[in-house]
This record gives sequence, structure tokens and C-alpha cells, in this order.
Amino acid sequence: MKRKDLFREGFKSVFQFTFTKADELTEAIKEVWEEEKTPQTKSKPRAKSPTSKEKLPAKPTTVRKRKTKMFQTLSLPPGASPDFFSLCTGCNECIFACPYAVLFPVTTGESGKIFPHLDPNAKACHLCTDWPCISVCPEEALLPYELSGEKPNFGKAKAITEHCINEKTGESTCNACFVTCPIEKTVKFKGNLPVFASSSCTGCGLCVESCPSFPKAIQIKFKKQ
Ligand code: SF4
Ligand code: SF4
Ligand code: SF4
Repeated sequence: MKRKDLFREGFKSVFQFTFTKADELTEAIKEVWEEEKTPQTKSKPRAKSPTSKEKLPAKPTTVRKRKTKMFQTLSLPPGASPDFFSLCTGCNECIFACPYAVLFPVTTGESGKIFPHLDPNAKACHLCTDWPCISVCPEEALLPYELSGEKPNFGKAKAITEHCINEKTGESTCNACFVTCPIEKTVKFKGNLPVFASSSCTGCGLCVESCPSFPKAIQIKFKKQ
């Protein structure tokens, strides 16, 4: 077996494990939701005869729509087509192709299908010049930027100034975000503190990754999908 194929098989087996766990998690969530929908039965019968009001069927429990924080911090892969969810078959070729292991599978929507996502606040997209993730997509779910005429836009970087080392020290101690940002003139300094130009920021997350402060002094805010 070729070395490349060996790596590929290794990746596939790791992600197969992830898919299995994702499916199990989805099933567990469905079960909890079903339990919530089921009206609760009283364990002890009432001593007195039931009134006409008590004979009425129990009102179904209102199921609150839960929005998990996780899905609010995820973004679609680079070049995601406007019809991404109908075009992507979940083959995960883009996941295997990413040399930085930035993409990962997430079960989304009522269909329970698996789609690739990334979280630039956790792991940055390196905006590879040759876009391996896009070029490997067999379904045009990920479109080359030359075709769409767009640029990557996962979200926008925002400074959390109270966490910035320069704010804490009162000096110009750090400029890691400025040095790391691959897009010219996107990070500027106003006094000691970084300011991010929303017009050019791609939300790649490289500045977040480079920020040495804990907690991080930069966060990617996401556009709605
Ligand atoms: S552009 Fe590069 S780093 Fe970003 S998801 Fe695609 S392959 Fe991975
Ligand atoms: S400021 Fe630069 S490094 Fe940070 S997310 Fe925007 S484009 Fe990426
Ligand atoms: S990398 Fe972080 S700590 Fe350093 S200047 Fe930028 S925001 Fe501040």
C-alpha cells in the first residue's frame, strides 16, 4: 500500500469512530426529547373521585427548542456554496484533505446527516493558497473562490480588550495578532490595543490561535448560516 493511501486509511478509521459516537449522541438526544414529549403519569391514584376538570386529557408538555451553544460557534468549510446543505453528500473528502485537520464532521439538522464544519475559535483555517478542501470536493458543494468571486468569510475577529496583555501591562508588549494575520491592513493598533477591520477580516482564526493571553483576547464572531 502506498504511503499516501496508508495515511488516508488511518484518517478514515479515526473519523469512522467519530461518526459512530456522533450517531450515538444523536440517538441519546432524540430519546431525551421523546421522554419530554410524553405526558407524565401520576404514580399514586387520587382518593377522592375525579372531578370533570380532572377527567380532561392532560395537556401535552411544551417542548422548548434548545439551541446548543456549540452550533453557534461553528462555521462551514471554505467556499461553501449557498446550496451547501443540498449539495454536500457528507463524503467528508474535504476533512481528509485538510493538512491542518481543521475540519470535522457534525450531525446537523433534522435529517441527521453529517456535514463538515470548522471552529476558528478552536482551530484556525490556514487559508491554504491551493485550497485542498475545495479542490477535492466532488459535488461542487465547495466552490473555488475564483468561480464564486467571493472571499472566505467565516466570521469577524473582535478584540476583548480587557484580556489583551497590552491592556493588562499598560505597555506595547505584544503584537502577535498583527504579525500573524495573513490579510494586509486588517489588524491595526489604536494606542496599545488591536483593532480588527471587519471589511477585510476573513474570520480565519489565526490571530486567535496566536494570541498568548488566557483567556484569549480575540474572538471570532460568526455570521448567521
Ligand atoms: S483552506 Fe486549508 S486549512 Fe482551511 S480548511 Fe481548507 S485545507 Fe484546511
Ligand atoms: S484579523 Fe486576520 S488573522 Fe484574525 S481572523 Fe481576521 S483575517 Fe484572520
Ligand atoms: S495577540 Fe492577543 S494579547 Fe497580543 S496584542 Fe493581540 S489581542 Fe493583545
